[in-house]
Amino acid sequence: MPTRVLIIGAGWHGLAAAKTYLELFPSINLTIVDQDHAAGGVWSASRCYPGLLADSPPANFDFSDLPMDEELGIEKWADLPAEMVHEYLERYVDRFGLRRCLRLGTRVLGVEREGVGWRVEVENVDVGEGGERKREWLVCDKLIIAAGVNSIPKVPDEVDWKDFAGPVMHSRDVGRKHALLTEEGVKRVTVVGGNKSAVDVVYLCAKAGKEVGWVISPDGYGPCILFEARTKSGTSFASIKLARASLITGPSILNVKGWWYWFLHSGKSWVGSWLLRMVMKVLTKEMMAMYRRNENTMKIAPDLPDIFWSPAAPSIIHDTKFFDLIAEGTQIHVHRATITSLTSHTALLSNNEILPSDALVFATGWTTSHSTIFPPAILPELGFPIPLSEQDPKTEKHWNALDSTSMQSLKTLFPTLANPPKKVQEYDAIHAKKATTTPFRLFRGMVPPTLAARGDRSLVVLGLTLNISIPIMAEVSSLWGIAYLENLPLTSEVEGMLQNKEEMEREVSEVNNMGWLRFRNRAMPYVDGGEVTQWFIDRLVRDLGLSVHRKVLVAEREGCRGLFGWRAWWKEWTEAYVGADYRGLVGEYKRRWGLEGTTFSDL
Ligand SMILES: Cc1cc2nc3c(=O)[nH]c(=O)nc-3n(C[C@H](O)[C@H](O)[C@H](O)COP(=O)(O)OP(=O)(O)OC[C@H]3O[C@@H](n4cnc5c(N)ncnc54)[C@H](O)[C@@H]3O)c2cc1C
Repeated sequence: MPTRVLIIGAGWHGLAAAKTYLELFPSINLTIVDQDHAAGGVWSASRCYPGLLADSPPANFDFSDLPMDEELGIEKWADLPAEMVHEYLERYVDRFGLRRCLRLGTRVLGVEREGVGWRVEVENVDVGEGGERKREWLVCDKLIIAAGVNSIPKVPDEVDWKDFAGPVMHSRDVGRKHALLTEEGVKRVTVVGGNKSAVDVVYLCAKAGKEVGWVISPDGYGPCILFEARTKSGTSFASIKLARASLITGPSILNVKGWWYWFLHSGKSWVGSWLLRMVMKVLTKEMMAMYRRNENTMKIAPDLPDIFWSPAAPSIIHDTKFFDLIAEGTQIHVHRATITSLTSHTALLSNNEILPSDALVFATGWTTSHSTIFPPAILPELGFPIPLSEQDPKTEKHWNALDSTSMQSLKTLFPTLANPPKKVQEYDAIHAKKATTTPFRLFRGMVPPTLAARGDRSLVVLGLTLNISIPIMAEVSSLWGIAYLENLPLTSEVEGMLQNKEEMEREVSEVNNMGWLRFRNRAMPYVDGGEVTQWFIDRLVRDLGLSVHRKVLVAEREGCRGLFGWRAWWKEWTEAYVGADYRGLVGEYKRRWGLEGTTFSDL
C-alpha cells in the first residue's frame, strides 16, 4: 500500500478532500471516519429538520463538478431546504466513489504520533452486543482533520437542569429530537441564545403553534444580525454579495495591492474612505429598518447596529413573517436576560421573570474539539489552541511581540480599522469577549508552521476559516492541502515560506489580528473570514500557480470574451462567484505543472 490517508469528518471539507485525493491518486488507501451515521456533517440526516433552510442558495452551496440546480432540479438562487443539502452530499458521495472510504458511526477519541505519521484511536458510537463500544487504533501517514467547528455543543454549565421535567436539548440535536418540541403535549418552549440556530428553532416552534420564550443574554454579542434573503425586487442577496464589486468593500490583509485597496481602504483617498462609510451607513439603515417596527422587534436588534463592525457574521432570514410574529408579541416573547435556575416546569430569569416551560433548547453555540484529541504536550507545536494560562512564558513573549508588530502594520495599512467610531469603542469596552485560549496558529489556516518548517508534511487542518463560500473553500483548500502533504508543486513563493518558520508565523499573526481588528471576535480561536473569504481563496489558488480570475477563464472557455475581453471582465466584477467557476480545478492544476497522466508511484 503506497500511503495511508485518514480524514476525520465527512462534512463538506472531508468529502472534498477525499474526492480530490482520489482524483490525484486513484489507488490510494484512504479512510474517512465520522461519528455520525450519515455523511454531510452539519447537513447529515440526523441534523436536518422540517423548515430548516440553508443560508446559502444552491448556486453558492455546491461543489464545482456537481451543479446542485441540475442535480436536484432546483433554481440556482432559490431557498434551499436542509434536507436537499443532505441529499446532495449523499449523491456526491456516490457519484465520486467515496462510499467505500466511509467509516461512519466511528468517533475519534485521540491522536498520537506514530513514527513520521499518526495513530488515531477510534471507537464505535453504537454499543455492541456485550454492552461495550469497540475501540481500536488506526495508523496513517497523512492526517486531514476536517472535524468542523459546529460539532461539539457549548451548553452553559452554571444552570442545573436536572430538575427540569421536559425535554432539554442543544440546537445540534433538534434534527433528531424536533418531534419532542412540536408534539401536542408541549405548549411552551424556552429557547436560549441569540444566534441563527436560535432563530431557526424559535421559528420551528412558533410555526408549530407553540408559545416561545426566547432568552437572549444582555451580555456578550447579543442577537445576530439578520438580513433578508432577497431585495425588494426579489434578487437573492447572495448573488449581489458574492460579486467581486461588492467583495472589495471588505478590507483584507490578503488584498493590499492595487487601485481598489488604495481607493477604499488605505486612507489615502478621502473620497474612497467617505464612499465606503456611506455605503455601510446605507446598508446598516436598510437592515435596521426590519427591526424598527416596534419595541418587540427592537429586542432582537443587534447590539452594535453597524454591519461593518459587526463581531458576528450576518445571517439570512428567508421568511420575514418571523419578524411579524416578533412584532405581534403574542406567540414569541423575547427576554434580554439569562436563566438563573430551573424547576420542573419553569425557568427563572436574571430579571426575575418566570417562564413556564415544557421544553428547553440551548442554541448556545459550539466549542472546538480539535485540541482535545491531541496530547496537550504537542498542542503548541501544532499551533492548536491551549488555555492562555498554560502558555509557556517564552512562547507567550514570542507571540506577543509578533502580534504587536502585526497590529502596528495592520493599523498603518488600514487606518479606518485603527480608528473605529466612538460607539464601536464603547461597545467593545462593554461587550467584547475576552479570549481564554490561544488562537489556532496555522499557516494559510491549515498547516502547523513548526512541522512545515522541519519538513514534516503529515498533517493538515481544513475548515477553520469561517466563511460564506464553504464548498469553494473546501475544494481549493483540499487541493492546496494535498499538494502540501504529497510534495506536489506549489509556487516558489509559497514553497519558500514553507521552509521559513518566522515568515509563516508573521503571516499567521497578521491574518489572526486582521480577523480580530475587523470582526472584533477575540474570543474565537479561528479566523472569521466573513466576506473577505474570496481573497483567502484567491491566495490559495495563486499558491497553486493558477489564475484567480475564474470568471474570465470560464468566459474564455465558453468563447464569450467580448471585444478586448470586456464581457469576460464585466462578468468577473459584477457576477457572483460560485462553485461552477472552479470546475475542473484539479485537471487545470495538473496541466499547469505537467502532471497529466502521472500516477501515484511516479511522484
Ligand atoms: C445550523 C447551521 C446552519 C448553517 N448554514 C450554513 C449555510 O447556509 N451556509 C454556509 O456556508 N455555512 C453554514 N453553516 C456553517 C457550517 O459550518 C458549514 O455549512 C459546513 O457544514 C462546514 O463543513 P465542515 O466539513 O467544515 O464541517 P461539518 O459539516 O461540521 O462536518 C464535520 C464532521 O466531523 C465530524 N466529527 C467531528 N469530531 C469528530 C470526532 N471526534 N470523531 C469523528 N467525527 C467527528 C462531525 O460528526 C461532522 O460530521 C451552518 C452551520 C450550522 C450549525
